[in-house]
Amino acid sequence: MRFNYVSSICPFCGTGCGMNLIVTDDGISGIAPYHRSPVNRGKLCTRGLHTASELKNFRIVKPVIGGAEADLEAACAKLLELKGKGAEVYVSTRYPTEAIKAVQRLAKEVLGVETVKTFTDAADLQSTAVLADLEKADVILVVDNAMRILPVTGSKVLRAQDKGAKVLYAGPENYSAVQADETAITEGELAVPENFKAALKAAANAVVICPAGSQYAAAAAVAEETGAKFGLLFETANGRAAVEAGCVPSLSAFKAEEAVPANMLIFAESPEYQTELYLDLVEKLGKVENLVVVASNASVLTDIAGTVIPVAAFGEYAGTVTSWDGQVQETPAAVAAPEGILTPYELIEKLSDGAIKEA
Ligand code: SF4
Repeated sequence: MRFNYVSSICPFCGTGCGMNLIVTDDGISGIAPYHRSPVNRGKLCTRGLHTASELKNFRIVKPVIGGAEADLEAACAKLLELKGKGAEVYVSTRYPTEAIKAVQRLAKEVLGVETVKTFTDAADLQSTAVLADLEKADVILVVDNAMRILPVTGSKVLRAQDKGAKVLYAGPENYSAVQADETAITEGELAVPENFKAALKAAANAVVICPAGSQYAAAAAVAEETGAKFGLLFETANGRAAVEAGCVPSLSAFKAEEAVPANMLIFAESPEYQTELYLDLVEKLGKVENLVVVASNASVLTDIAGTVIPVAAFGEYAGTVTSWDGQVQETPAAVAAPEGILTPYELIEKLSDGAIKEA
């Protein structure tokens, strides 16, 4: 019986925790600690621990057109019908960097679409802090629900607090607020009290962290004003690299725009069936005339798409991901994809008639 450990990186949030995939004859059968990872030293949050079961659940193995099973050739032909029609192209920021870049090339060179977008909301800023800065900080300002969204990053804040750091919180009432020494509960626009700013200014090592959402620009401004380092936390595994590759974060713009695109391609990726993931977008996406979704696992998106093309999942092809603090790490191919399922690179090579190959 096959029984291997393959070291990889958790596919969920931008902390970039190391994990061992337990590979048996049944594929990726479990997760074991990877103690040598400097990011998390073997610790994982519940999402990371459940990666193996999530990968197995809700797997898509057949292309679908109009609700009926179809063959891959027909589904690819439907995708290629988007050529020259001004389609909107989105890519999940959970794909590895190489796959994101391949999607960009497919959009530009095959479909005639210049810009690939993402359903995220941070664009023009970079972190000046790294994960290790949190552990040696004297004062940490946490904005929004950072500690729930990136739990292992949150655990570094709590470790600093145990060692005497002051943890301040600004934002809506939530889990991060409960953990803080002092809180400034505000709904809507970020309001950081003057005594918080004074504490940040006076500290030898001060850090402000904020998830990549609606508050990040205001949080970064507080860091700049007070001389603190700033950590922009990406909720998805490869959000930072997607921005660096030139994908345009467009979540708020998509929601705000009244018009519904007629043609749309989404390279989706969620190793778990999250009903809430696209829930606020589903009503609008449901009105897209020709919605093509490429994905490894079912989601509310694949439920409403006119055409669904299955693709290999995390752990079935190699790539690199960049954590929120800029560490580039490899995610190897631990197992083969199910028979007949192409990796994103193979699918894009096929769609481009061999013109775009894996780098
Ligand atoms: S903190 Fe993020 S990267 Fe680490 S195990 Fe949890 S979801 Fe995965």
